[in-house]
Amino acid sequence: MYNAPPDKAWLQLALPPVEALEWMANLRRCAMAGVVVHDEDSTGRVTASRIEYSLGDHDRSVLFDALGTAARVYFAAGASAVVTGIHGPGTIAAGQYLDHALKDETSPWQMGLYAAHPMGTCRMDRSSTDSVVDADGRVWGWDNRHAADTRVFPTSLGVNPQVTTYAVGLTVGAAVADRAG
Ligand SMILES: Cc1cc2nc3c(=O)[nH]c(=O)nc-3n(C[C@H](O)[C@H](O)[C@H](O)COP(=O)(O)OP(=O)(O)OC[C@H]3O[C@@H](n4cnc5c(N)ncnc54)[C@H](O)[C@@H]3O)c2cc1C
Repeated sequence: MYNAPPDKAWLQLALPPVEALEWMANLRRCAMAGVVVHDEDSTGRVTASRIEYSLGDHDRSVLFDALGTAARVYFAAGASAVVTGIHGPGTIAAGQYLDHALKDETSPWQMGLYAAHPMGTCRMDRSSTDSVVDADGRVWGWDNRHAADTRVFPTSLGVNPQVTTYAVGLTVGAAVADRAG
């Protein structure tokens, strides 16, 4: 965290485009945090022409709890203001009533949400009934077609996947090498 005097500190949670210039001018006094919410009751689907995502009430509530907690951490560290990435409350000044600023009924359209960990489009399992690839990453019904990345996860992990991605790559790679003799 940047070591600025508390009354001058501008710490942020996200950066809405409309306020970007002002925040960029204060960048050396900014810090940034992301909160990660694993889908529980949100739904979505991807087709060739459309991406749909519907934010569930439970997930929305968890998101707001997480944003509130992150904001409190920053205020406790001496921040004079936070930006939450939710259009509406905009900048929240230190001392402002957070629960009022982060309202549960805020529309998803007001939120700057993004997905960094979409996974599980070709899941791995023991049976071809419920999955696309077997435990070696081989596509069911094919001898020479494998998947060795996050698409084989049974679902999105909800945490950073880098190490697991490496592990899947190594495991599937070893299986391919074994078969090749
Ligand atoms: C903003 C952001 C921040 C992130 N931060 C972290 C982090 O801090 N820690 C962490 O662990 N994870 C992080 N992740 C997630 C992580 O980067 C991804 O989950 C991971 O890289 C996915 O690995 P992958 O191999 O499945 O896919 P990718 O890394 O996306 O690899 C897919 C590759 O396949 C190539 N490809 C696609 N289609 C084809 C094709 N038909 N033929 C040939 N090549 C093709 C693509 O060009 C790409 O290079 C972050 C993701 C984002 C978006």
